[in-house]
Amino acid sequence: TEDDEEEKSIETSAIVMATGFKEFKPTMIDEYRYGKNPDVLTQFELSCMLSEGTLARPSDGGEVKDIVMVQCVGSRDEEYKRDCSKLCCTFAIDNSLSIIERVPDAKIRIIYMDIRVPFEHEMIYKESRDKGVDYIRGRISRIWEKDGKTHVQFYDSLLNQYFEITPDLVVLSSAILPPDGTRELSETLGYLIEDDGHIKELYGKLRRTETRRRGVIAVGGVTRPQFVFEAVTDAQAGALMLHTELQGGSIEGVARGAVLDVDDCVGCSLCAQQCPRGVPLMIEQTDKEEEDEEQKFIFIASIDTLLCHACGVCQSLCPTGATQLNFLSNDQLWSEIEATLEGAGPDYPITLCFYCEECSVSTIDIVGTRKMNYPASTRLIPVPCAGRVSIIDILKALESGASTVMIAACETDRCHIGGTGNEIAQVQVDVAREILTAIGWNGERVDMFRMFSAEPERFTTAINEMVKRSKELGPTPVHKGTSGKWMEASK
Ligand code: SF4
Ligand code: SF4
Ligand code: SF4
Repeated sequence: TEDDEEEKSIETSAIVMATGFKEFKPTMIDEYRYGKNPDVLTQFELSCMLSEGTLARPSDGGEVKDIVMVQCVGSRDEEYKRDCSKLCCTFAIDNSLSIIERVPDAKIRIIYMDIRVPFEHEMIYKESRDKGVDYIRGRISRIWEKDGKTHVQFYDSLLNQYFEITPDLVVLSSAILPPDGTRELSETLGYLIEDDGHIKELYGKLRRTETRRRGVIAVGGVTRPQFVFEAVTDAQAGALMLHTELQGGSIEGVARGAVLDVDDCVGCSLCAQQCPRGVPLMIEQTDKEEEDEEQKFIFIASIDTLLCHACGVCQSLCPTGATQLNFLSNDQLWSEIEATLEGAGPDYPITLCFYCEECSVSTIDIVGTRKMNYPASTRLIPVPCAGRVSIIDILKALESGASTVMIAACETDRCHIGGTGNEIAQVQVDVAREILTAIGWNGERVDMFRMFSAEPERFTTAINEMVKRSKELGPTPVHKGTSGKWMEASK
């Protein structure tokens, strides 16, 4: 009861949202008579009846021999749920077979727009047709009650004809929705919500169980309609993800992310504006020593490393180096660049490729497993997100002897961190090209290439293009020892 409700606080490092889904109750759609006629049920209600062994007409307990199932109730409907609920065709077929098992001479009609059955469910679809389930392509016109019977009028679009029948049961294949409270909880837990109310995954291909909020995992039907075996796989992936995060005992112990040196922050707010996760906050502070009243109040960034998704976008944008990833600082990356480019020179032109550890890495993996060829004069450096690479990093690579520099990133709108890391990288590349052109180098020495996570040909084509440019453009001013003032300035 409400009196028993008690608010408790517990300390935790992670929260798993495994709250499943709920079935849409179409009480507001008059034509189905759901909630008004007791012999109109949903598939879930029919499943309960079947598992309890109580298949009978709810209105009078009479036997059930004639059943009509109506597909896509509330699904594929602009007013309720725009897309397909994926599970309900299979539910309808499963329930039909269960009824036939109990009542072999039952007449079952399924009125559908399309039958959508994934995987091996195609086999039970065939089995149901073989056992006499009648699939009718069309729509329900109306349902009404007369003389103690349920009347259904439907339109058969293949025969272009209306029919009227009096079934014992009407079963609605209702839309699959996220459970109540999912949207409300998003404000507290910080995850994002899809248009249809399900929890938004961080990145559909590679980080499916993660949400926008680090430490909040979402698995199973709460993210989208799923069959049991899919939800189990999802849960295993979520558990693995948590295990990795918590192996040090708590997230705090192993947190990878941005750390801030407040003394170096000049309050430009670039990090707060561009962080795809909204992590940096600008906090107002008072400079006690400042006498000028207007200058007294300053804004300084604040970053909670636990919320950070470790993309490095803020680091590449920060003008003072105040925010840096605790596992890939500027100094660390520059040392890596120098070591990687050892031996590069006019006689051995090298193309340096920064690649995103989340998306392009899969492509490069495929290149390796397929034993595809690309020039040996290529060097690869992984970064957590293409957006981690700054203009300075690109210039540093050229200063260290690279002939050409490229970034391998994901396609537009496919940034795995759910943000615009790839677009930030594009800006860095564009500006680096402009700088190079302005100082008399050739901007063509730098470029960015987009690819999905399984497009090895696009990767090798990009590498070949940059290696070709290295040869065509010849030695860089660094190789020739004529970079002069720019080298001084860059130092
Ligand atoms: S699974 Fe079938 S019934 Fe459900 S929304 Fe998709 S097409 Fe309609
Ligand atoms: S590393 Fe990425 S997620 Fe973390 S604060 Fe910086 S921009 Fe935001
Ligand atoms: S980008 Fe750097 S200097 Fe600017 S507010 Fe963020 S941490 Fe401070």
